[in-house]
Amino acid sequence: MIQQHDATAMHWDFRLEAEGVLKSWAVPKGPSTDPREKRLAMPTEDHPLDYATFEGVIPEGEYGGGPVIVWDHGTYRNLTEKNGREIPVEEGVAAGHVKVFLEGKKLRGAYALTRTGTKPRPRWILVKTKDEHADARRNPVRTEPRSVISGRTVREMAEG
Ligand code: MN
Repeated sequence: MIQQHDATAMHWDFRLEAEGVLKSWAVPKGPSTDPREKRLAMPTEDHPLDYATFEGVIPEGEYGGGPVIVWDHGTYRNLTEKNGREIPVEEGVAAGHVKVFLEGKKLRGAYALTRTGTKPRPRWILVKTKDEHADARRNPVRTEPRSVISGRTVREMAEG
């Protein structure tokens, strides 16, 4: 699932259920459907599974203060491999490379997350890999801004 979160800066929290938690990355520009677009994805702390349906407004002054919507949700198939052998997502996270096939409402097809650096903080990139769901003309972050749960935009959520 992916939450759009307007905190100190706008970002999209990309979360994959694995090992009973939500492995998480904050993507400042949001995900793209264009394989040429590499999107910075900063790893953030694991979140509990029940956070997957959270939307609302985190109070000002608390960590992450600001409105949150569930921008996309669905299931995924793990495609992560190491040395030609499939490995669990959590092992891929530790090894710095994860590949999943998303079956969401807005995002479909294969996406790769790859660690590109560790200093001063770990940095990853999120990229759509080439398949029949890749589409350079779509821009769902801009054209499909509404929550898949409530139908509200993050701005409407902020307005209460
Ligand atoms: Mn966030």
